[in-house]
Amino acid sequence: MYREHTKVIKIGDRVIGGGNPILIQSMTNTKTEDVEATVAQIHALEKAGCEIVRSTVPTLEAAKALGEIRKRIHIPIVADIHFDYRMAIAAMENGADKIRINPGNIGSAEKVQAVVDKAKEFGVPIRVGVNSGSLEKNLIEKYGKVTAEGLVESALDKVKMIEDMGYDNLVVSIKSSDVLMCVRAHELLAPQCPYPLHVGITEAGTVYSGNIKSAIGLGIILHQGIGDTIRVSLTGDPVNEIASAKQILRTLGLRQGGIEVVSCPTCGRTNIDLISLAGEVEKMVTEFDHLNIKVAVMGCVVNGPGEAREADIGIAGGVGEGLLIKKGEIIRKVPEEELLSTLREELANWK
Ligand code: SF4
Repeated sequence: MYREHTKVIKIGDRVIGGGNPILIQSMTNTKTEDVEATVAQIHALEKAGCEIVRSTVPTLEAAKALGEIRKRIHIPIVADIHFDYRMAIAAMENGADKIRINPGNIGSAEKVQAVVDKAKEFGVPIRVGVNSGSLEKNLIEKYGKVTAEGLVESALDKVKMIEDMGYDNLVVSIKSSDVLMCVRAHELLAPQCPYPLHVGITEAGTVYSGNIKSAIGLGIILHQGIGDTIRVSLTGDPVNEIASAKQILRTLGLRQGGIEVVSCPTCGRTNIDLISLAGEVEKMVTEFDHLNIKVAVMGCVVNGPGEAREADIGIAGGVGEGLLIKKGEIIRKVPEEELLSTLREELANWK
């Protein structure tokens, strides 16, 4: 397990690396300068279970706003910096818990040194981020195109540059929208990198394709013991990313807790609106993340009761009603329109 041997890095009041639990990150898509909108979005992300948030800091106004935002949220905030080293410095002066830079687009070594000096002064970790879209020309020429080997060489070069400047409070990320290239790059990087890795498939796409690409890419990478924080990148409301990230971690056995909803695919025997009900149940159970149980939403009384009995609690649909089944016992019949509220009530009083 590579992740057990990465360096422990403190980000605000959280720790990553060294085998600590894998944390879920997301990124705001509001204008960071708009404090109210950004705080509101971070609160929604926190409620969904986001553990570290990143916001872009393209202006000095955004750096100042970051300071205000930080006072009103409850999770560490990472400043995302591109091109202008002064934004990195301003973000740290305004309380950023971590900064993310690609030293390759910051400019001269002096500018990178100025950022590193400020990070040292404030004890702020730096995420060195390398992206397939911005791989250096010489590495593209060396390997003939953008490759996993090129990405890894680029990341290790940047890490060495910062280490040579006397700083090792680092996190590393390499991202590609090509899932298999991203997997390969992580397989090459992990044995050579002592720092925690932030893992994500970049520009993964919409909720549909992004979820599939992320589940495959993150699944393969995480299952090899690689990765200390993750982000599922989806085009849309970032809150959607959190449920997907949690589901990926749970499916891999890397996170306990939370309710697992199983539901049947429906068939000609289904006589209730199970598709809507299953969707509503999936949303509703996010309120009960402290419970570690399985909820079954089954469509019929032929196979349903048997399947629902395997779960901690479940319903099996009939005609305009459903059976409520708890710990293997049929409890009672419930009218269809009360199935959701009945399940919610049961979960709220779960012992
Ligand atoms: S549980 Fe019943 S309704 Fe659902 S797929 Fe199976 S047989 Fe069909």
